[in-house]
Amino acid sequence: VTSGAEASASQQAVRRHNRNLVLRAIAAEPRRSRAQLAEHTGLTKATVSSVADELIGAGLVAELDADRGARGRPAVPLVLNPDGPSGLGIEVNVDYVSACVVDLTGTVRGYAAVGSDNRTLTPGRVLRRATDLAARVVAQSGLPVAGAVIAVPGLVDTGGTVRRVPNLPGWDGLDCARRVRARFGVATRVENEANAAAVAELRSRPELADFLLVSGEIGVGAGLVLSGRPFRGPRGFSGELGHVPVDPAGPECGCGACGCLEQYVGQEALLNAAGLPGVASTQIGAPGGAAGALLAAAARGDQRTLGALADAGRTLGVTLAGVLNVLDVPTVVLGGLYARLAPWLQGPIGEELQRRTITRAIAPASVIASALGPDSAVIGAAVSVIDEVLSDALPPAGADSRQAGA
Ligand SMILES: [Zn+2]
Repeated sequence: VTSGAEASASQQAVRRHNRNLVLRAIAAEPRRSRAQLAEHTGLTKATVSSVADELIGAGLVAELDADRGARGRPAVPLVLNPDGPSGLGIEVNVDYVSACVVDLTGTVRGYAAVGSDNRTLTPGRVLRRATDLAARVVAQSGLPVAGAVIAVPGLVDTGGTVRRVPNLPGWDGLDCARRVRARFGVATRVENEANAAAVAELRSRPELADFLLVSGEIGVGAGLVLSGRPFRGPRGFSGELGHVPVDPAGPECGCGACGCLEQYVGQEALLNAAGLPGVASTQIGAPGGAAGALLAAAARGDQRTLGALADAGRTLGVTLAGVLNVLDVPTVVLGGLYARLAPWLQGPIGEELQRRTITRAIAPASVIASALGPDSAVIGAAVSVIDEVLSDALPPAGADSRQAGA
């Protein structure tokens, strides 16, 4: 015998399940009619109709003009509502902050970035800069915000707490979601930037089920995707490629160890080896100033820059060969600054992988540039909010804003 409360709870669970099923079916293939959705999901037409009306009421789904067939009742195609709740992505990196709004269909509806050497600013100032930028991008998009994800270049535990950011002083243990939550009144959580970039890559290239996204900035991180799912590690700390030792007697790293990969292939190391001014020279308000100089020097064929990039590519390739031998991942995706440097890095990385991966003759690895370019982390942060809305983990905007994360 079930009590009234139990029956009502189980009815709610069924409704939620049905809502999720219909929403996912519309996301997977837009323009399905109610009848087609019933056929696809196995739900009755009456159930689909009631769920569809509920989703339309919540602003998640929109109806297009009816397709009039030769006979019978017109079928009304349903799509995810491009003007419905959106995802807000914010990225705080060492030398810039950026913000991006993605709508329910996954389309980027607003983006902005500002450069600054964030190592010299207090976390409070950096976060204020980031939230001000985000507020501008949200206002420009004109969309309601369903939730926010902040991407940071450091260790974020499975509870969403920032545990260690070797390249940003004062960020260890910081509750950076609080300010964003207060400003926008939505559920906010924190994600590692390379993992966020991997999420974006996965959505833009669903045919890539297994890959390692290498995000090169001041630090170097990796986002691992296995069988179509991001792999963050049991505690959330996987992917710290930048701290793989290259030379135990090498230069000291921000993490406290010596000779880590990012001391050889991170942006500062590249600028240094190319004889270009460091990131500290970045003008506030000009995103990617130092990186821009590096790209310009490579594009005009500056020999010292080309040599520095070839050396970095080889060092990356040697380290990646070790990772690929352990994980059996067939594809390396170059993200962050490396996406822009891909024309110069792909060759030397590929040569080292071909020389050093044990599977080279059976299943050679490929090295490709991110489909989203250098902004994949902030786009991925926004996209993961949309994924949560579509999987019903977040209430739609306007509903009571349950808070996720720390
Ligand atoms: Zn290190």
